[in-house]
Order: sequence, then structure tokens, then C-alpha cells
Amino acid sequence: MTDLIKLLPDHVASQIAAGEVIQRPASVVKELLDNAIDARSTEIVLFIKDAGKSLIQIIDNGSGMNGTDARMCWERHATSKIAKTEDIFKINTMGFRGEALASIASVALVDMKTRKEGEELGTYIQVEGSAVKKQEPIAHPVGTNILVKNLFFNIPARRNFLKSNPVEWKHIVEEVNRAALTNPGIAIKLFHNDDLQLDYPIEDQKQRVLSIFYDRKEIDLIGLDEQTSIIHVKGFIAKPEFAKRLRGEQYFFVNNRFFKDNYLNHAVNNAFEGTISKEQFPLYVIQIDIDPSQIDINIHPTKTEVKFEDERNVYQILRAVVRKALGGYIQNPDGGDFDDNRFIHLQLNPPSASEAMPFVSSGSTVSRPDWGSFKETYQQQRNDSTQNWEKLFQTNPNKTAERMETLLPANEEVSDTRVFFQLNNQFIVTPIKSGLMLVNQQAAHERILYEKYLIALSQSPIASQQLLFPKVITLAPGDELILEEILPEMGALGFTINAFGKNTFVINGLPTELHLGNEQELLTEILETYKRNKQGDLSKHKNVAKTMAKKAAIQAGTKLKTEEMNRLVDELFACTDPQFSPDGRPCVSKLTLQDISKMF
Ligand code: ADP
Ligand code: MG
Repeated sequence: MTDLIKLLPDHVASQIAAGEVIQRPASVVKELLDNAIDARSTEIVLFIKDAGKSLIQIIDNGSGMNGTDARMCWERHATSKIAKTEDIFKINTMGFRGEALASIASVALVDMKTRKEGEELGTYIQVEGSAVKKQEPIAHPVGTNILVKNLFFNIPARRNFLKSNPVEWKHIVEEVNRAALTNPGIAIKLFHNDDLQLDYPIEDQKQRVLSIFYDRKEIDLIGLDEQTSIIHVKGFIAKPEFAKRLRGEQYFFVNNRFFKDNYLNHAVNNAFEGTISKEQFPLYVIQIDIDPSQIDINIHPTKTEVKFEDERNVYQILRAVVRKALGGYIQNPDGGDFDDNRFIHLQLNPPSASEAMPFVSSGSTVSRPDWGSFKETYQQQRNDSTQNWEKLFQTNPNKTAERMETLLPANEEVSDTRVFFQLNNQFIVTPIKSGLMLVNQQAAHERILYEKYLIALSQSPIASQQLLFPKVITLAPGDELILEEILPEMGALGFTINAFGKNTFVINGLPTELHLGNEQELLTEILETYKRNKQGDLSKHKNVAKTMAKKAAIQAGTKLKTEEMNRLVDELFACTDPQFSPDGRPCVSKLTLQDISKMF
């Protein structure tokens, strides 16, 4: 038998890697801008044609490259920015992976002219499909001029996937503005089809923010500048009256790198609480300076995610700084605590994780736990999880065949005998007329619970099983705000949770499907997942339902009884959308007789 495994040719590997870094013209713009910034340019000019689909050109007056570097930079993992593993933990440049130029070269036609300071001649180089086609010395000013033509010329599927010009153009403008916001010392011009669209001179930080938010005036902004022992927070927020109905003008930077973070965004929104309505989003440009070893930017090649070692304290500080800034602006706040000295105290002495709990919002109801509300159901719940299963799967089995017919092509039906067996304690397998149907038990159960929870949230709350011994839990600072945010939803899903002062809560009841165990861990996990899901555009209900479904669903590896499989499948096909789990994994798949015949 011949061997099947082969190493991919370099250009194919590059194209695959490029898919991660270069998704659209704006990704090229971002990478080239990053490089020009890293090269300490003070002037950058961009020429774009056809929303970047046919041409992206960037000219900088930065360090430039010598002949060898001009050739090397197109290789994968070629970088001047890090040399050894330790360097990854103290990155102060925008790039470091040495991937961008190689990726661009694998999916576009590239020309570059560059000259390094001190060199007499510059270099002209032409790269096509990752291969250097031409290299010759030329006269050129110090700096670099890169031309990227016909993006994705060799991957039609990707090219077709690009959005309309206005959409792609908008992404480009967004990238240029992100770079411009933290680099007021660089003059930037952006042309589209020969028209000058953006023109930022070298200016100070505030002026640059105003140039970008051109509909704002100096008086509309409130400056931030607080040095704490772990971070330096700088930047601007717009006064509450300029909050918008659309998210958008919200920018976080860490060490000059743009990032998105819903958790920290929550800190800022929260600081604005009481000054703007819930449907509005405050405008902010917040720059955090931190020791690079305290963050991990190595999460994703496109690098808009950053992981802070000390996320919770950053949250606290950010909220305090913004609130303090607002406090200076608002004389007579309704909420009362804007001028509170605690904020000043906090930013000077960031709390250690254990002592930090200065922000219980004054509006939160702190009720003492109801120690008398014990129920006998506790023991029963603990001992009998199969009963829960049965409750879970109350649906009409006759409907299943009907649903499957609409779902699976052709005239499918569960065979009359309804044989189910479990494969690897992971999949439920059942014969259907045209072959075998496979159900992913975990994905399917997530779908079932998700729909059930959505109903619970919007119409009929799930009853709570009261605990014999209420559990007191303490959350990490910052998390109490997240929990408070979803407390009503948690209630509808069967949690009875009461605030017990500071960041302590008492769990008096749990939904029936959840196994008892470590409630503290359970809640922390729910909050973590909820925070993560907030990255997307999920509504709060959907997010909570999805989070809980994930938590409560039977896992792969759980052995199921025939009856349980039966009901799971019935429940699944009673769902509105049985095909996919809430996060898009398939719940059902089919092995047709044809597939099976082919195997022989
Ligand atoms: P990275 O930025 O991660 O190092 P790139 O592929 O983006 O990787 O760039 C590779 C190398 O090429 C950089 O490390 C840098 O030395 C050089 N380079 C790229 N663009 C420029 C530029 N505009 N000016 C000077 N040097 C550049
Ligand atoms: Mg780079």
C-alpha cells in the first residue's frame, strides 16, 4: 500500500497560513501599517484602488531595508523583531510573528522598493506567488514602498468571498483609524481611487482623537491619565451626552495595540451607569500601558485579543478611572458616589485580588439569605438524576419521524422498530430507511436545553429546587457585576441567588438538571462562558441560554440508557432547529447506504 502522508509544498502551507492572517484587503492594510509603524516612520501614505481588491500601496519614511533583508522579509517566520522565546513575553512592536509579508506574498502580486539609511542604493524586488521574480538595485529615498496587487488572484474562492467595495472600504478606514489613534506622531494620508479620504498631520494625542471623531469638539471630551502600580491608563472618553445608539467608537489599546475585550468594555459601560441609558454606548479611546510581560498577545494571528495576567484588577482600575473622570465632570450625580474618594484611593493602591471589593453598586439589593426555606427535595434530587432525564424528555415520539422527514432529504423515516445504540458513549446511532443516522449526544442535548431555556427566559420560568444547605460563594472582584447583570435570567432558569454583601452571594436553589457539586466553580464557569460569549453579538437571553445549555448538557462520554436515547432523539426533533447546536456544531449526520456500499 502506498503511503498517504505527504508534507505540503511551501506555497500551499503559506496559503493556508495566510488564510489566518489575511482575510480581506483591510488585513493587508493593517499588516503593512504595523510594519511601517514598527519601522519608526513619521509619514505614511496609502493608495487604495477598488477597496483594496486591485491595489494597496503604502509608502513610508521609516528605517527601510538593505538588499538581504528586502529578500528575507518575504520568507515565513522572517522577523527582525524577536529572536528567542523570552522575547515573546516582552514585545513592544506591532508585529513579531514574521508571517505577514510571507502571507501577503502567497496570495497577491507584490512589488517593493526600499532603502535603508546609510546605504547608497536601494532595492527593487518583485514577488509572485511567494517566489522572488526580480531583484535589482535602484535609487530610492530612505523608507519603503510596497505595492500589493490583485489580492487572492490565485484563490478565487476567497476573492469571491469578499464583500462589496463599500463594506471592504469601511474595514480599511477602520484599520487606518485604529493605527492613527495611537500614533499621532505619524502623519497619515489615505487615498481611495485617487481621492484623498483621510489626512492626519502630525499632531498631539487629543488633536488626533478630534481629527478622527471629526464630529466632536475639544469640549466634548474628558481626558484620562492615571498611573497605578500595575497600569497606566490614558486617553479620552466623550461626555455622556455623546453616547451613541451604535457600538463603534469604542477603542481599547494596550501598549499601542488595538484590542477588543468585552469584559473590560463592561467596566467602562458600568462606570457610565446612571449617566446614559442602557441602549447607549459611551465613546471612548482608552490606552493602557503595562509591562509587556503582564499580557499575552499571542492568542490569535490577527491579534485583536489580549490576555491580561491580572484581568480583574485591570477591570477595577479601569472602572474607577472612568468613574473618577466622570465624577469630575458631573457635579450632582443621581447615583451618588461619583465623587467618592475610594476611587482615588484605589487607583493609587490597586487592591490585591483578595481584598478588592470596593464596588458594590449602591442600587443592588443585598438581602439576607432565607435560612428557613429548606425543602425536602434536596435528597431526592441528589440521588435520582434519571428522574430529571425523564422530565427532560417529555415529548411526543410520533412527531420525530415527521420532523426527520422534513429535515433529512428524501423520504426518511426512523425504522419502525426504533433501534438505538450508543457509539463510544458519544453518538447515538439509529437505522433509517436510507442508511444510518448519527446524533451527537452532547450537541443535541445543548440544542434541546438551549431552546427550552429560551422559552423559560421569555415565558415560563423553570422551578428552582431549593437547597437543604444554602451555599455561600465569593466571586472574584468584577465578577459580581457580571452576575448582577444576569441575575434575573438566572432566576428564570431556576437559580435562587441572593446578594449577601460585597462580592458574596448565597445560592438558595438550583435548577433541577444541574448536578450538585462545587457551586462556586459552577457559577464561576457560567460567568466565564457568559463573558466569552459576550464577544459575539448574542442577545443577553441567547447568551445566558447558550451558556447554561453548555453547562447542563450531558457530555460526550456519558453512557445513556435506551430510553434516554429514545427521548433525546425525540426531543431533538421537536426543536425548532435540530440540525445544529447553539454554537453551530452539527447535531445530526447521516451515513447513507451509498456511503456504506462505497466502503466495500
Ligand atoms: P513581523 O512584522 O512580524 O516581523 P512581517 O512579515 O510583517 O513580520 O515583516 C518581516 C520583517 O520585514 C520585519 O520584521 C521587518 O524587519 C521587515 N519590514 C517589513 N516591513 C517593513 C517596513 N515598512 N520598513 C522596514 N522594515 C520592514
Ligand atoms: Mg509585521
